[in-house]
Amino acid sequence: MIYATMKYQGKEDLFCVDPAGERAFLMSNFFDSCPAALDLRKGRGPSADILTFISAYREEWTEEIAEFFSARPELAISFSQLTVLAPIPRPARNLVCLGKNYKAHAEELKGQIFTDQLPLYPIYFTKPDHTVISSGDPILLHQTITNKLDYEVELGIIIGKKGSDIKKENAEDYIFGYTIANDISARDLQQDHTQWYKGKSLLSHCPMGPWIVHRSMLPLPLSLSIECYVNGECRQKANVSELIFDIPTIISDLSRGYELRPGDIILTGTPAGVGMGFDPPKYLKAGDLVECRIEKIGTLLNPVIPSGQA
Ligand code: MG
Repeated sequence: MIYATMKYQGKEDLFCVDPAGERAFLMSNFFDSCPAALDLRKGRGPSADILTFISAYREEWTEEIAEFFSARPELAISFSQLTVLAPIPRPARNLVCLGKNYKAHAEELKGQIFTDQLPLYPIYFTKPDHTVISSGDPILLHQTITNKLDYEVELGIIIGKKGSDIKKENAEDYIFGYTIANDISARDLQQDHTQWYKGKSLLSHCPMGPWIVHRSMLPLPLSLSIECYVNGECRQKANVSELIFDIPTIISDLSRGYELRPGDIILTGTPAGVGMGFDPPKYLKAGDLVECRIEKIGTLLNPVIPSGQA
């Protein structure tokens, strides 16, 4: 199944999505019918937010939700009545991101952002919740703070259950699903401040979505094309199978002495082709349209606009 947070009749709600049919179903219909899910509604009015849903998720729902909605096509709501929001509009914690996790990308930024060596251990940094925007929302240029704004298409992992010291062979059990993210980076701030946090943390600098594809639809190991286009020009094109540290390794390593929680978001790193890697560099400018695509997940589309014009 595919899950999305969307706006319907002026209100944010949780949906399961049929992209082929360009339609979606309100998850509250399922919660009303499912005794184990009823407490998702208690005290929450007519809707349930996605973080509550992920925390409460039961394995048997994977089949039950699909059967429930396929038997009730009359409940379908057309995309024309819906506005997609970020799948997790308000993450509970900072997003954990990997740097330098594709070999060709490590090569292209050698001497600029990276040292010569490939990493022996995953390189982590975080982005705060205020960076998250949805597909369609504008990426702000922050032109008074930076003039080296860059794009980075990335596969995002959504954690499904709490755990620490997770073994690689059990890592998949801790995943809820996958999404697409664009780890927008102010390269000058990244370089000036040495530590990357400031340059990765500006408002609107983590487009995410359009939705979450449940792991039952994308079993490990993943082999999915990952691409980024700016104004229709292909800048990044790779496969998520090329990750230096693969998904089980990331979950296992990060969780060593560290608690992963339902709804945590991990961005797995970006492939080669970022703006800084070109000579001359191709940084983002006002009016650009950035399109991030991952096979079997979808497309994340965001315009770039000057700050102060939102
Ligand atoms: Mg990145």
